[in-house]
Amino acid sequence: MSALRDAGLDPIEVPAIAIEFEPPRGDLDAAAGLLHTYRWVVITSANGARAILKAAERILTELGAPSWASIGPATRRVLEDEGIEVALQPSQSSGIALAVELPVVAGDRILVVRGDLADEELAVALRARGAEVDDVIGYRTREAPERSRALLRAAATDGAIAAAVFTSGSTVRGLVSLGRAESIDVLSMPAVCIGPETADSILLYAAEKPIFVIDAYTKRILSRHGVLPYEKSYDDFHQLFMKRLPANASLYNQYHALFVNIGKDFCRKRPLCASCPLNGWRGVPPLCSD
Ligand code: SF4
Repeated sequence: MSALRDAGLDPIEVPAIAIEFEPPRGDLDAAAGLLHTYRWVVITSANGARAILKAAERILTELGAPSWASIGPATRRVLEDEGIEVALQPSQSSGIALAVELPVVAGDRILVVRGDLADEELAVALRARGAEVDDVIGYRTREAPERSRALLRAAATDGAIAAAVFTSGSTVRGLVSLGRAESIDVLSMPAVCIGPETADSILLYAAEKPIFVIDAYTKRILSRHGVLPYEKSYDDFHQLFMKRLPANASLYNQYHALFVNIGKDFCRKRPLCASCPLNGWRGVPPLCSD
């Protein structure tokens, strides 16, 4: 927001998603209790930083022992506001840049704190470099929060909107849902976005074009069933669907929603294979039982 204001624009904030931090006594608190044992704590978003700081405060643990890495300036600000010295911020704000530029030696213990919708690319890349990685969810994302309906209504009646800026695929789906709930045509606004998943989400959900969206759940399910290794590129996963399925936006929309449902309900970090409808698909046995 401040960067847009600095550029002379007049941004209006309409949160299309809401953040829910992980509750006490889960994996996040357990990781916070072990902070002193990590060589690096790697934070991939400002909300991830807030999540680990809340957990550390909750269980009264010291923050100073590990070295801290931040994906970008907003995350860094949250950490530095709490007096944490950030030892590394990569040259580009991306998980891959972090994975490449983090000074790691084999056997280093690293804690990665991320949101539930972010993929596991960073942890996978760090493990490939020999690190021992705990990949922990710090917060979860809920789309189209009820309280944003009034904000969207006010923004739409306030004058013409030159563009909608999206920061993730979930913000696209969230705004489309808010627009539908308020009968506001958000689909006609020019869209600006970050990254291929967000761009494809706009094309599928907003423009209703037949473009398949790949997210962390899709990659996780397909890689666990041996379709493609997780570290393959966004485009490799994307082409898998685009080359095999008829060009049909409604089909892609439903297909993607099924991946999201399986990912949220069963194919979690600790998979619930025994009760999952995909158990046995491609002959892959369960990874673990419920
Ligand atoms: S069977 Fe297991 S690995 Fe496969 S999608 Fe379900 S939870 Fe994931």
